[in-house]
Amino acid sequence: MISIAGRSVLITGGGRGIGAAAAFALAEAGASVALAARNEQQVVDVAAQLRDRGHTAFAFRCDVTDKRQVRDLALSAREAMGKVDILVNNAGTVTSNPLGRIKLTEWNHIMAVNATGTFLCTQAVYDGMVEQKWGRIVNVASIAGLEGGRYIAAYTAAKHAVIGLTRAVAAEAAGTGVTVNAVCPGYVDTPLTDETIARIMRRTGKSWHEATHSILEGAGQPRLIRAEEVAEAILNLCVESASDTNGQFVILDGKDTP
Ligand code: NDP
Repeated sequence: MISIAGRSVLITGGGRGIGAAAAFALAEAGASVALAARNEQQVVDVAAQLRDRGHTAFAFRCDVTDKRQVRDLALSAREAMGKVDILVNNAGTVTSNPLGRIKLTEWNHIMAVNATGTFLCTQAVYDGMVEQKWGRIVNVASIAGLEGGRYIAAYTAAKHAVIGLTRAVAAEAAGTGVTVNAVCPGYVDTPLTDETIARIMRRTGKSWHEATHSILEGAGQPRLIRAEEVAEAILNLCVESASDTNGQFVILDGKDTP
C-alpha cells in the first residue's frame, strides 16, 4: 500500500472528475486534503464523503483565475492543515471550435483557467514548500499539452503552457526538495468528457455511442481512461521515492491495455 501519511494536499477542481478521484486516492494513502472549486457545494460534498470514511478533509470556494482568491485559498489550506506539502493543479476546462470561430473571450477564459490558474496556485504555495525543503506539485495537463488536435487550439495552447510551466518551475526547484511534474491523460471518463460528447451529439446528431467512438478514434485511443487511473498516476508522483522525478510528464492514453 502506497503511503503519503502525514502529508497535506491541496487539490484544485476537487469537486468532481479527476480532482475528486485524486482526493480519494491521496486521502486513502494517508494524507489530509483540502479541495477547492468555484461550486462550493460539490467540494463540500466530496470532503464530507472523505470524512465519513475517516479521512481529514476540508473544502474551500476558489476561482483559480483570481489572484486574491488563490492567495486566500493557500492561507486557508495552511490554516486548516498546518502546511501544504502537495499541490495538485487540476482545475481546468475545455471548449472546442475551429480556429476561425474561437472568440477572444473564449481564448482568454481557457488560458486563464488552465494556464494562469496553474501559475497562480503554484506561486501561492511554492515558497512554503521550498522553506520546508519538501514539496510535490503535480499539474494535470493533457495529451493536448504535448501534441496538436483539431478544434481545440485554445485548450492545446493552454495545456502546452502548463507543460512549459512544469518544466521551468522544475528547473527552478531542482535541489530544493520540491518536485514539479505533470500527468497527461487522453480522454477520461468525467463530466468534462460527458460535456464534450453531448456537444458533438448536439452539433452532429450522432448518438452517444457514435460521438464517443469519434473522439476516441480521433485521439487514437482504444477506450476512455478512468479518473482513478489518473489519480493513481498523481499519487505515484507524490510518494517519497519519487523525489528524483522532476520536470517529467506521465502519459495515460490507454494504449497499453487490450
Ligand atoms: P471536470 O469538469 O469533471 O472537473 C473540473 C473541475 O475543475 C471541477 O471541480 C470544477 O469545479 C473545477 N474548475 C473549473 N474551473 C475552475 C476555476 N476557474 N476555478 C476553480 N476550479 C475550477 O473535469 P475533469 O475532471 O475531466 O478535468 C480535470 C482536469 O483534467 C482538467 O485540467 C482537464 O483539462 C484535465 N484533463 C481532462 C481530460 C478529460 O478527458 N476529462 C483529459 C486530459 C486532461 P467548478 O466548476 O465548481 O469550479
